[in-house]
Amino acid sequence: MNVKSSFSKDFLDEIAKQLEEQRLKLENELGQFTKKSQHVADDFDTQFPEYGDKEDENAAEVAEYINNLPVEEGLEKTLRDVNKAMERIEKGTYGVCKYCGKAIEEKRLLARPTSSACVECKKTITQEL
Ligand SMILES: [Zn+2]
Repeated sequence: MNVKSSFSKDFLDEIAKQLEEQRLKLENELGQFTKKSQHVADDFDTQFPEYGDKEDENAAEVAEYINNLPVEEGLEKTLRDVNKAMERIEKGTYGVCKYCGKAIEEKRLLARPTSSACVECKKTITQEL
C-alpha cells in the first residue's frame, strides 16, 4: 500500500520520541536476561542462568530459563512492533490503517504509538475472532 500519511511534523516527532523511549526500555529489559543475537537483527536469546552445580541450583536455573522464554518472546514482539512503527515514520506511511488505508486517529496513536489499525477495523477483527 502506498498511502502517505498527512500528520504534522510535530506530531510525528512526538511519536518518534515515544517509540525511541520504548525501544530503549525494551532493550534494557531484554538485556537483563538475554544476549543480543549476532546474526539476526533484533533477535535476543535468553541466557541460561548460572547459580551453581547443586541439584536445587540446577533446578532453579531450568525454572528461571523456562520462565524467561515467554517474557523474551513478548518483549521481542513489542520491540519488533516499535521498530516497524519507526520504519513507517521514515517511509512516511505511519498512522495509516493497514486494513482500510485510512488515517488512524491521532489520539489512538498517542496512546499506543505502535498501532497499525484504526479503531473500526480493530473492532471488526476482534468481533470476528
Ligand atoms: Zn481501518
